[in-house]
This record gives sequence, C-alpha cells and structure tokens, in this order.
Amino acid sequence: MAVNLLDFDLEGLAAFCDSLGEKRFRAVQLFRWIHQKGESDFDKMSDLAKSLRGKLAGAALVQSLPVISEHVSADGTTKWLFDVGGGNAVETVYIPEDDRGTLCVSSQAGCAVGCRFCSTGHQGFSRNLSTGEIIAQLRYAEHRLRGPDGERVVDNVVMMGMGEPLQNYAAVVPALRVMLDDHGYGLSRRRVTVSTSGMVAMIDRLREDCPVALAVSLHAPNDALRDMLVPINRKDGIDALLDACVRYVEAAPRDFVTFEYCMLDGVNDAPEQAEELVQLVRRRRVPCKFNLIPFNPFPESGLKRSPRDRVTAFAKLLQDAGFVTTIRKVRGDDIDAACGQLAGEVQDRTRARERLLERRRTIPIAAAEGGR
Ligand code: SAH
Ligand code: SF4
Repeated sequence: MAVNLLDFDLEGLAAFCDSLGEKRFRAVQLFRWIHQKGESDFDKMSDLAKSLRGKLAGAALVQSLPVISEHVSADGTTKWLFDVGGGNAVETVYIPEDDRGTLCVSSQAGCAVGCRFCSTGHQGFSRNLSTGEIIAQLRYAEHRLRGPDGERVVDNVVMMGMGEPLQNYAAVVPALRVMLDDHGYGLSRRRVTVSTSGMVAMIDRLREDCPVALAVSLHAPNDALRDMLVPINRKDGIDALLDACVRYVEAAPRDFVTFEYCMLDGVNDAPEQAEELVQLVRRRRVPCKFNLIPFNPFPESGLKRSPRDRVTAFAKLLQDAGFVTTIRKVRGDDIDAACGQLAGEVQDRTRARERLLERRRTIPIAAAEGGR
C-alpha cells in the first residue's frame, strides 16, 4: 500500500527517503513542495530528481481529506467539514482577525472524555485521526485561502476542534512538528496551542517532547464540580493538574498557561466561584491567564449560557485579583462554527440521545450545582 507522506514529520520523511536510497536534502525538497507549495503531484515537483519521482510514484502519495462542505460566516469565519471515512466527519475553522489568522484544528473524530457541556463529547468517540489527517486540515486551509501574493494566512493554530489532543498523542506530536518546522509551516511555538481537558501524565510528556503553548480547560474551581463537568478530573484531580501546569510553564514557550472556563448559567459562574478560583491558582502558584468562553448551547445539553453581566462580573473579579482575563468573542455562530458545536449534523443522533439520557441519569446538573 502506498504511504501517505502527510503522516511524516521531516525526520520521518528523511527516514522514508533513506529507505528509498535517497539523501536527506531530497526529503527537505519534497517536504517543502508538499507543505510550503501545497503540491501533491510528484510530476510537478520540478526540481526533484526524475529517479526520485519515479520511486515515489509507486510507493507514496499525498493524501488530502475530501471536503464535504465549506461555510463562510458573515464575519469571515470559514468552516470546513472533512470526510474521514466510516460515516465520520471532522471540522476545521479559520478565524480571521485584524492582524492574524487562527486555525482551529481537530485531533479525533468524536471524543471519549465526555464533558457535560460539549457537543463533541455527547457524540462519543469514533477514532483517532492520523498525523496526515491532522496536518491535511492545516495544509488545505492554508493553500485554499492563500492569495496570489503567496503570503501566509494561518499564523496561529489551536488544537481546539473536535477531540482531546493528548489522548491521540502519538499522531499529534509529529503533526505539531510539521507545523513548527521551518521547511513546513514555520509557526512559532508560541503560536501553536494544544488545548487539553487535563491529562496530567501527557502534559508532562508534551513538555519533554514538543513544548508549545498550553491551554487547559478548567471550567470549575473545585474537584466536586469539575468531576461532574469534565469526567477525566476524577482520575487525577485539580491539584495534580495545576502542579503539572506549573512544571509545564518552566519549559514552555510562553510563561503562563491559559485556563479556559466555559461560562454555564447557574453552574460555575457565581462570584464566590471566581473567588474560589483565585484562591485555587494562588495556592498552587500557577502562572496563568483566563479565557472565559460563553457557552454555546445545543439542545441536548440542558444547560444555558451565562448572562453577559455575570460573565463580565466574573472576569472583573479575576482581573481585580491580578489575572489577565479575556472573554472569548463569539465568532461564526451563524454557521455553527463556535466551540463545541462541531460536526453535529453528520452524526447519528439516535445513539447520541441515548448516551445523553444515560449521562443525565448519572450526572444530574442539580448535583453539579450542589457541588459548589
Ligand atoms: N479537548 C480539548 C480541545 C477541544 S475543546 C479540550 O477540552 O480542551 C476546545 C474548547 O472548547 C475547550 O475549552 C472546551 O471546553 C470548549 N467547549 C466545548 N464545548 C463547548 C461549548 N458548548 N461551548 C463553549 N465552549 C465549549
Ligand atoms: Fe472532549 Fe474537549 Fe469536548 Fe471535553 S471539551 S468532550 S475533552 S472535545
């Protein structure tokens, strides 16, 4: 079977070329054609030796993902749905801003973590994406949107689409390396962000293997509430998670971790909970910023978005305590491109509904409120 060259970081491609009897500089050339020029046809890679093109023709291919749909929002946000086979689709979102463009990339079809407020979590887990499937999202977006001037369009990548990146570690790390590689997409470590629900051991591994910016989805100021909102919390607990964040910052390209906090009406948005959050991160001495995310409701969640004034009051309490706090702008919600709404339309809703009912029985939201 032909090998998908998008599955390789530069070292992997060099090893593959070596197996074909080709020198490393050939791998660099090939890598640049694939990622920087967006070329898939070996015959068009004009400065590549004919003999190498011949060998590649039989052994390898550059496999992109079929595009199911493209939606462009009134604010310029663009969402693509990619077919990953077996009835599964993943979503990628491009968010243009004045001075930069951010791409939100998926790492899994579905997600096994099952957060209470997340539509991907409610769909359950289908499978891990390969390195090639992760990088194909960036490659497609970059070359689809790049203008005739050839200027880069994606300046930032956030692993905040579908899936838990640290539960697909083996595929995610080479994908990060392709993003960072000067012969690939040349993004700085500060501009590539892994967002995680908090897998402590894997945060430590990422720090060793490929430190990039880290965002941790905290969502609660104590274990009782976080256990219900983010079930993975039952494994390690908040203190161990925050200690891993402190260790991470020592090696990270940024000197803080971003805590994401999804604002849920009457669940985690009270002023006392902001105070508790301040005490928590002070006690563990975590250098951090906060990013408050307005909840994007979906019918099965049974949850509501916090009113605007409650979000600003919560933000003010954190800011007054000395923490940089931002409130995420809702972008692209006219095309359902906002967080946690991903790829819902192609999923089998019947099973999702069963799973939801099951979860409601085990994690009633009243109990979550009681966890304050
Ligand atoms: N699995 C990773 C990354 C993907 S989710 C993680 O959990 O961090 C990216 C972000 O979107 C997370 O902070 C997540 O908590 C948030 N999110 C999920 N569902 C949401 C929703 N319905 N409304 C707002 N934010 C949501
Ligand atoms: Fe998975 Fe992240 Fe959604 Fe939780 S919030 S279910 S970890 S994608």
